[in-house]
Amino acid sequence: MKMNFRRLIGDFLLMLPIGLIGFVYYIFAIVFFYPKTQSHQESFLSFFIFHILLFLLLWSFIQAVICKPGNSPRNWGFYQSDSDTKKKRYCLVCHSFKPERCHHCSTCDTCILGMDHHCPWINNCVGFFNRKIFILLLLYSLINGFFILFKLTGQVYSSLELILSDSIQVSLIPHLYYIAVYFFLLILMIILSRFTYFHIKLVLKNSTTVEMLDKEAENYSISPLWNWRQVFGKNPWLWFLPVYLETGKPIGDGITWARPKAPFELKANSNSDHNQEASGSPYFESPLNISNIVKSSSLNSSVEYSQDLNSMQYVKSDSGASSPFILPRGKA
Ligand SMILES: [Zn+2]
Ligand SMILES: [Zn+2]
Repeated sequence: MKMNFRRLIGDFLLMLPIGLIGFVYYIFAIVFFYPKTQSHQESFLSFFIFHILLFLLLWSFIQAVICKPGNSPRNWGFYQSDSDTKKKRYCLVCHSFKPERCHHCSTCDTCILGMDHHCPWINNCVGFFNRKIFILLLLYSLINGFFILFKLTGQVYSSLELILSDSIQVSLIPHLYYIAVYFFLLILMIILSRFTYFHIKLVLKNSTTVEMLDKEAENYSISPLWNWRQVFGKNPWLWFLPVYLETGKPIGDGITWARPKAPFELKANSNSDHNQEASGSPYFESPLNISNIVKSSSLNSSVEYSQDLNSMQYVKSDSGASSPFILPRGKA
C-alpha cells in the first residue's frame, strides 16, 4: 500500500488547532470564567451558552476532519461520449477522466469533486460534499472567538491598567495570559472574518477558490439563494448544523453541474411549479443518473461500477430515481 507522507504529516499537525482550542479554553473557561459562575447566576448562563457554542465548534471540526469531500469516480469518463471537453479533463496523475469542477489534490493524491482547496487546519480537502461543514467550522470559530473577546474585554482593560500603574499585583498568571489570549484571538478573528467573508461570497456566487484563480472558469451562478442551497441543502433547519441527513445534503451529485439559463428559458420555467418541485430547483438540470450510464454501457456491470465507487451509496432522489451520493465516512 502506498504511503502518503503529506497526509501523515498533516494528521500530526492537527494537534496544532486542537492544542490552540485547548489552551484558549483553559485560560478563558477554567481560569477566568469558571470562578465567576460561583457567585453570579448571569455568568453561569453565559458559561452554559459558551459551552453550547464550543460544542458546535468541536462538532464542526470533527466533521470537517472526517467527512470526505467526494472523489471522482475512477471510470467515469469512459462511460461518456467522446468530446473535446472530456479530453481536456484528464488527470495525468490518477490516469482517469475527471468531471467538470473536479481537480487533483497533490496532498490527498486523488481527484476531488467540486474542489475548493486543501485545508491544512483540518488536513482534508474542501470539496462538493463537505463544503458546508467547512464554512460552518469558520462560522463557529468566529462566533466562539468573538464571544471570548467580548467577555474578556473588561478583564483585559483592568489588567492593562494594573500593568501600566506598575502595580505589584501583576503576575504572569493570570493577567499576562489574559492579555496574550485576547490579542492573539483579536488578530486571529480579524483574519478569520475576512476569510469567512471570502468563502461565503464564493458560495453565493457558486464559485470556488480554484475557479476564482482561473480567469477562464465558467459561470455556474443560478441565483444567490439557489447557489446557497446547492452547498447547504434545501432544509434551512439544517443549514447551521454540521449534519447532512436527507435534506441537508448539497443539491446535485458533484459530477454534473447546471448553468444559468437564458432569460427566455427562465421565464418558461417560472410557469411550471410542478417541474420546479420535481427537480428541486427552477434552474437545475436533473442530476446525472449514473445507474443509467452503467445500464447502457457495454461493460455490463453495476457491480463493477459500485466497486469503483467504493465510498458511494445509492440513495433515492426526489424524482424517485437512484443517484449516487458520497456520504460522509462513518455516517449511515
Ligand atoms: Zn487526479
Ligand atoms: Zn486534499
